[in-house]
Amino acid sequence: MKKYWLPALLLFVFESVAISCWLAMDNIFYLFNFSYIGCSVAIGVFLYIKNYKNARRVAQLLVGLYMLIYIGFIGNENMQIEGFWYYLFIGVFDAATIHYAVAKIFGPLIFGRGWCGFACWTAMILDFLPYKTTQQPRKRIGWIRYITFAASLIFVVLLFLVGATNMERIMFWAFLIGNIAYYLVGIILAYVFKDNRAFCKYICPVTVFLKPMSYFSLLRIKCDKTKCIDCGRCKKVCPMDVDITDNSRKRKNATECILCFECVKNCPKGAL
Ligand code: SF4
Ligand code: SF4
Ligand code: SF4
Repeated sequence: MKKYWLPALLLFVFESVAISCWLAMDNIFYLFNFSYIGCSVAIGVFLYIKNYKNARRVAQLLVGLYMLIYIGFIGNENMQIEGFWYYLFIGVFDAATIHYAVAKIFGPLIFGRGWCGFACWTAMILDFLPYKTTQQPRKRIGWIRYITFAASLIFVVLLFLVGATNMERIMFWAFLIGNIAYYLVGIILAYVFKDNRAFCKYICPVTVFLKPMSYFSLLRIKCDKTKCIDCGRCKKVCPMDVDITDNSRKRKNATECILCFECVKNCPKGAL
């Protein structure tokens, strides 16, 4: 049973958040919401331990479709970064703000960028594209993420400054148009750079939160140097160009690890 500690831990963390939010906000939706997400991610990790090759895809689709379709389109909540700014500014601690706090700001202190590997609805589609590993050297254009981050903030601030009416409707359309734009840019970049995760590496504004927080992540993959034979297989299969054989927090592209476990799965010596 020892090998199932990770899905059990994830279930425990999400269930704790679910019960705390339910009791604090007297709203049973939070119990359902976080229990569902916790179960989906735990199922993905459990299937991975059972060697099911599409384990991560199962979790990505379960969480991603739920967030995109049920919370976003049916529930009319803008779950993109502009939705986070909007709800934060009007002082509403609700779906988008809680989602950002748990998955993208404070959660990464525990589970790093697990969101990016197992749950993101943008990557859920991008991971179906053909370029699963990096085929070109990394580009020096990661600064674009700060522009998209600033643009999302300026967009929402401007809406308040001009006194836009019907903000909820604007946020709904921003969510719809924003997602279409993310998918389009993500797919084009994947083909141009031959890299499914190019959008994550260079454009995604959420990484401005994710990267620094995941630097301190409790959950991280480590290399057992006594087993490693320096074959380089782990670096070859890594979609995010992380040097996982280096155990320091400053390893190459350390804050890029999305905990997809491709390196672990492919290590011939079980060193990771
Ligand atoms: S970097 Fe952004 S787009 Fe990529 S998986 Fe993470 S949150 Fe999703
Ligand atoms: S795949 Fe395993 S053995 Fe090969 S370099 Fe990576 S950690 Fe070492
Ligand atoms: S280091 Fe391993 S777990 Fe992290 S992104 Fe690369 S392949 Fe995935």
